[in-house]
Parts: sequence; C-alpha cells; structure tokens
Amino acid sequence: MDCIFCQIVAGKIPSDIIYQDKELVAFRDIHPVAPTHVLIVPKKHIPDLVHLSEADLPVIARMVKAANQLAKQEGISQSGYRLVINCGTDAGQVVPHLHMHLLGGRRLVDGLA
Ligand code: AMP
Repeated sequence: MDCIFCQIVAGKIPSDIIYQDKELVAFRDIHPVAPTHVLIVPKKHIPDLVHLSEADLPVIARMVKAANQLAKQEGISQSGYRLVINCGTDAGQVVPHLHMHLLGGRRLVDGLA
C-alpha cells in the first residue's frame, strides 16, 4: 500500500480529518493554498478520473454533496468556493488517488488556467 491517500484512509499516517463516512474521507490539505483547503477522497483506490468506472460514478455525486456540507461547516457557502479535480500530468495531479479540492475563504484567482 504505497498510496499516500490509502494510508490516510487506513489511519496509517496522520491527517487532519474533518469528515468521514462509509465511502469518503475529507481532510485538510497539508499545503493549503486558501484559508479553506480540504481534500475529499473516496476510500476506494481510484487513481484518477480516467479510471472511474460506470459503477463508481455515484461516488462523484457523494463527493460534491460532502463538499457542499463542508463548505457550510467552514462558513464559506455564502462567500463562495471552488471544487477542483485534477486529472493527469497537464492538470498538475501529483497524488494518483482520485480527490476533490474544496477551496475558499478568500477571493480565488480569476480564470481557470
Ligand atoms: P493534486 O495536485 O490535485 O494531486 O493535489 C494533491 C494535494 O494533496 C496537494 O494539494 C498536496 O498538498 C496534498 N497532500 C499531499 N500529501 C498530503 C498529506 N499527507 N496530507 C494532506 N494533504 C496532502
């Protein structure tokens, strides 16, 4: 098990977990780029969006639902937030375990790239 997020899911390395359920875990990013920077991660190891099977599609909806709940919890629902899933090298994905970034708490840069 050399996937860092699988190790976080298994409780083998410490992380600042703020939410978990049967399928997901959410923890604070170790190098936050915004006042709120949370990673929402499926417990199942799915490397990236390319490897998301038809059967796994519902997990994306659950990730969005958790992100919306966490945004409320973090007090950024009204001010706004951004959800990002990087896929592959050109997108800058560095951890090969599907994850969604929840970013907010300040005015984020305009534009997407
Ligand atoms: P990405 O570039 O989309 O693959 O983002 C991976 C994110 O994981 C980065 O923002 C890292 O700062 C974050 N990260 C890497 N290792 C850890 C860790 N042990 N705990 C929390 N966040 C991490």
